[in-house]
Amino acid sequence: MRLAETVTFGGSALNRAAELRGDADALARAARDRAARAILLWRGKPLMRGDGPDQGLVRLPMDHPVLAEAEGAPVLLGLEGDAPVFAQDISSWQPPTGQEVPGDGFRDTTRQSHPGLPPEQVFTELRSVMSHLQPRDAELAATARALFGWHRTHRYCAICAAQSVPDQGGWQRVCPSCGAHHFPRTDPVVIMLITHGNSVLVGRSHGWPEGMYSLLAGFVEPGETIEAAVRREVMEEAGVEVGRVEYLASQPWPFPSSLMFGCRGEARQTDLRIDPVELDDAMWVTREQMMEAFAGRHPVLAPARKGAIAHFILRNWLADKLD
Ligand SMILES: [Zn+2]
Repeated sequence: MRLAETVTFGGSALNRAAELRGDADALARAARDRAARAILLWRGKPLMRGDGPDQGLVRLPMDHPVLAEAEGAPVLLGLEGDAPVFAQDISSWQPPTGQEVPGDGFRDTTRQSHPGLPPEQVFTELRSVMSHLQPRDAELAATARALFGWHRTHRYCAICAAQSVPDQGGWQRVCPSCGAHHFPRTDPVVIMLITHGNSVLVGRSHGWPEGMYSLLAGFVEPGETIEAAVRREVMEEAGVEVGRVEYLASQPWPFPSSLMFGCRGEARQTDLRIDPVELDDAMWVTREQMMEAFAGRHPVLAPARKGAIAHFILRNWLADKLD
């Protein structure tokens, strides 16, 4: 797919400077570099400035007082030109009363302002701004969110259960007890545009907003190809047999640690046998109906969220731009 890397979080050709990660002196020099900057996250929410098209990631100088509250060594994300860019996490900071986060992260529209930062700089849920970030900001924020999430949930060695420590500029954890190296986790997920003639198969999970339908998706299992995972998931969830499968585009999805493989496949039949545990509903939707939904004119159907690869694939299918 020619437009593959234009997907949200599709990458910005960031130089990740992996050669610096194993060199403690080079990392320390990079952190002291006057041009070095840090992006800041609080409980997975990046520090953003502005609103609308001007919205962007805040880049703080490395000696900014608020970074003294950060936990652990900075994670080296890469180089912007010659300037090192790091990420820091201040998740243990408690926001002032009235700025708490509601339980459901997906619908989190709250913003938190730290007293040591200007009021226009606020911690913002990434999903609420992802679709209009510059590609570089999107890549930095997604990378940092995924890495900090991994560190938070993988603090103990999976082999001997001793507490592990970050290493390689934050890109590994090592176990001081048994010496094992642990790498940031990325879970492969397939998400598929299944078509039959002029129609596409869409489904909805339990608890989704009313009317919202999206492409079917599921985790790739050990020992399975991407193509086999597409066929298995569609059969399990909707009872539809799929023939030819093609890869289209991928999307890092740091909620918390997925890599989405967008595919298309051709259904061999249209009869549905819906798994009520996996899906609330599934149905075939014509191209014309989906066009109405994307235009906000369909009486019932609401399309996948903007920024998600399902939205990207559906939009390009409607525009005949999947090749
Ligand atoms: Zn160990």
